[in-house]
Amino acid sequence: MTPVPYNTLSSYLKERLGHKTVKICIDGGFTCPNRDGSLSTGGCRFCSERGSGEFAAVAERGITEAVQARLASPLGGRRAERYIAYFQNFSGTYAPVDTLRRRYDAALCDPRIIGLAVATRPDCVTEEIVDLLATYARRLYVSVELGLQTASDEVATRMNIACPRAAFTRTVHLLAERGIDVVAHIMVGLPGEDRAEALATMDFVNRHPVKGIKIHSLYVAQGTALAEDCRSGNYIPLSFADYTETVACLLAHARPDLVIHRITGDPSKDTLIAPAWCTDKRRVLDAITQKMKKNGWYQGCFYTET
Ligand code: SF4
Repeated sequence: MTPVPYNTLSSYLKERLGHKTVKICIDGGFTCPNRDGSLSTGGCRFCSERGSGEFAAVAERGITEAVQARLASPLGGRRAERYIAYFQNFSGTYAPVDTLRRRYDAALCDPRIIGLAVATRPDCVTEEIVDLLATYARRLYVSVELGLQTASDEVATRMNIACPRAAFTRTVHLLAERGIDVVAHIMVGLPGEDRAEALATMDFVNRHPVKGIKIHSLYVAQGTALAEDCRSGNYIPLSFADYTETVACLLAHARPDLVIHRITGDPSKDTLIAPAWCTDKRRVLDAITQKMKKNGWYQGCFYTET
């Protein structure tokens, strides 16, 4: 495989854990305060019924059974020596602490699972939950992925994300102080955001003690509010060229030590409305690498400490 001009997650995990390690995506049966009525019932305008985890295992089969089935399956050809249990769907810390402990323990059912990763909203992490995660961090690799999406509160409000930047800042610090890896999840292609605003989001992330970043292409899935925006002409997805150029630029401005977990989306072909290029992940990754190499860019080449 051609070397890429940014820090990959696979290299980081190999170095940190000493093994080739991949994530097993789990649907832990969580919901989200932005969908269950606590904050709103609509959810973020881009959120699909699967809670942005299109390929997660099915919770009803039981978390342990689902994990064991995944371990026994070819995992899409991504066989590894070790695994990380990854609660991807909805808000993976949105439950009482005892419930969280039971669900996390259910996933940690095989000695080859040496890590716990949880995706959630910044406003769904209490100090009690940080204490719980810290108990796992004593014996496992633990990371928490926080949905930021944008550094603009205005865009966040327009997309009904209903979580201010201040919550992100607070939660990053709470987790990082306990030695837990924090991963910022951002989106490129949000309505009303141009490249300068995407760079402002990268700058915002750079100034936090996060270990990694996930850059996700905004795509339109069936059954979302964004699908209505797209049909009515109120949202036009980014072109392939715009997306790949913007992400190449973001990586050039990313803090040099950040681990890059992802640089595109991974939509289900069955539910994707647009943009079609999103389904060709290899082409997107190659184009970003080629743009960086052609310009002589590498991760952090434009980063300046502020
Ligand atoms: S925070 Fe996540 S799970 Fe909740 S509505 Fe938004 S995208 Fe969906």
